[in-house]
Amino acid sequence: MPRNIPVIDRVWTILDLIRWGAEYFRDKEIDSPRLTIELMICHVLDIQRVQLYTDFERPLTREELANLRAMVLRRKDHEPLQYILGQADFYGRPFIVTPDVLIPRPETELLVDRVIRGAKGQGSIRCLDIGTGSGCIPVTAAIHLPESHWLAIDISKGALDVATRNAERHGVADRVELQQCDILKEQPAGTFDIITMNPPYIAAADISELEPEVRDHEPHQALTDDADGLTFFRRLAVLASVMLRPGGTMFIEIGHGQSELVRSILASAAMKTEIIPDLAMVPRIAIVRNSPSMS
Ligand code: GLN
Repeated sequence: MPRNIPVIDRVWTILDLIRWGAEYFRDKEIDSPRLTIELMICHVLDIQRVQLYTDFERPLTREELANLRAMVLRRKDHEPLQYILGQADFYGRPFIVTPDVLIPRPETELLVDRVIRGAKGQGSIRCLDIGTGSGCIPVTAAIHLPESHWLAIDISKGALDVATRNAERHGVADRVELQQCDILKEQPAGTFDIITMNPPYIAAADISELEPEVRDHEPHQALTDDADGLTFFRRLAVLASVMLRPGGTMFIEIGHGQSELVRSILASAAMKTEIIPDLAMVPRIAIVRNSPSMS
């Protein structure tokens, strides 16, 4: 089997391509080599994974092969697989992703899980998601909290387009309103029972350390504040007291090693702050409560 990209002058079956692709991606030190080529073939042929093995002798047409080749080349250049497939899983559901949005992360599933568990049974609530990106937070929460209404804001028009498509795809577009807003300069109207944000918390100095998938392909302004990584926490500390309703809660994702800094920044909001760890025991979600007794 040749090591280079498949040439289009011979017949390639599904099985040939799985074998070739797994080897090729392993050679290039791409994560999950076999899964990667399998998901690409499924995407090109528009089939489920199980069909790869029931239809393994199916030959690909020249056009299918050309499409697959383009995907393989993108992944070789470290473009994340989710952008190539146009989709990422979040909290058990598929979300449309493009290079305009951050790829949703498992850590953010923990944030959403907290929101859902914390708000179950609260009835009709008004919520705000800041820097919504793909819309994974408000769309997932709206599905699980059928009486919740969300305002989801982002500075990026491209991100808002993706979030709109995700809200429509998951049938919650009537309860997730999208709005362009620069939270550092503007303040959305009204007050909220829940505010969520997964801020661009990577410090400018740490950007070069990131893996190429993230550094070279995910949107820069979704990753970093181009400063010390804490800009948005400072802004949220100011906004919490004006935008959280009495009894309301803010859920903020934080970066590795930021918990004490974030805690002291949020202390200025004079609200009760709890920081909970993720599955790797890294402090990950700051929960800020505007308890009526303390306000
Ligand atoms: N809210 C989106 C997410 O959690 C985008 C966050 C961001 O762009 N920083 O995936």
